[in-house]
Amino acid sequence: MSAATADRLHSLNTATWTFDRSLMVQTQGMGELYAGRCPFYLIEHPDGLVAYDTGISRELVEDPESYGPFGAPEIADFMPAVDLDAGQSPAAHLDDLGYAPGDVDYLLLSHLHTDHAGNVDTFADAEVLVHEEELRYAFFPDPVQRVFYLGGDFAALRTAAHEVTPTTGRYDLFGDGSVELIPTPGHTPGHQSLKVELPDAGTVILGADVALLRAGYENELAPSFNWSLEENVRSIRRVKQLARETDADVVIHHDEAEQARRNETMKGVCLTCHGTAWVDAQFDRLDRTIVTTNDATLAATRILSRAWEQGLARGLDRGDSPFNEAIEKKWSEQWLFYANSTRYAAAMMGGDYGVFANGRWYLNKNIQEMIDWMRTAEQVWEGTGE
Ligand SMILES: [Zn+2]
Repeated sequence: MSAATADRLHSLNTATWTFDRSLMVQTQGMGELYAGRCPFYLIEHPDGLVAYDTGISRELVEDPESYGPFGAPEIADFMPAVDLDAGQSPAAHLDDLGYAPGDVDYLLLSHLHTDHAGNVDTFADAEVLVHEEELRYAFFPDPVQRVFYLGGDFAALRTAAHEVTPTTGRYDLFGDGSVELIPTPGHTPGHQSLKVELPDAGTVILGADVALLRAGYENELAPSFNWSLEENVRSIRRVKQLARETDADVVIHHDEAEQARRNETMKGVCLTCHGTAWVDAQFDRLDRTIVTTNDATLAATRILSRAWEQGLARGLDRGDSPFNEAIEKKWSEQWLFYANSTRYAAAMMGGDYGVFANGRWYLNKNIQEMIDWMRTAEQVWEGTGE
């Protein structure tokens, strides 16, 4: 009998940040900047849809002073180092994959730091599983950890809005060994990694913050702000042993090279039919497409921000939806359809498709239409004599 597996694992990035490398791996790379990811994961299993972590909250990054019931001014100094956009929220990622937040049955949390539990409120219908030590510690952490535990992220777990299951040891979610929480304390008291069995990839261990970067994992070097350095080293060794026993691939959560590793895997698929030069050129083209579509999206965002500032459209700051007016719909079409279609076509070699079918042609046309809309709205506004 073959072992049970989940169907698919998605790694979805909520932000990119830039910090001093020595913050992530103690004693290494002082004064050297590193840019890393801040992902969450979605696991499709025949018996339910599972999210592991929720990434960092856009509301926090944009306005830490007024985040949650008490604000979070203590972490404001970190926020300029974090880069994210609306399309990176868990809800937007789910939508890209054809799901709504309410479709998620289980939310597993590695720990309650703000870069892992930042969007818990998106998953109000899910059963939330957190280690009991983590739940207790989060509400009154030691000073060195206080800046990372924010009421705005998890205070709602105390209310009836969420169904919370505190876990204590290894926790086999579906009882078939395919999705299993593994306690890996040290980074925080109730930190837990996740072992997932997949049809092709075999065993994958999502380490979360058992180590922040690959070098920290390999060399067993924990960051200085950990709850317990000793426990952390023990947990790294436990993960290494488990990986040996199960021949697992260990995913290091915030590592900058993880994206490059995934690119290599994707290239491997292309190389089964195409030559190396062809595949490299294809990936260069895709990288350039991502840059140009980001620029076109940013241009649209700037126009819309002006429309909101000038009161020509009503956005969140006036208590209105940011998606319901004509110019707002054009802005969402820009990133949701045109930019994504262009990238998709570049990845899949759809030349004509990338230009015409919701592609580059529309990216440019849409910006022109937004500018025209602004001009007309300004004229109407002036005409009213206000
Ligand atoms: Zn983290």
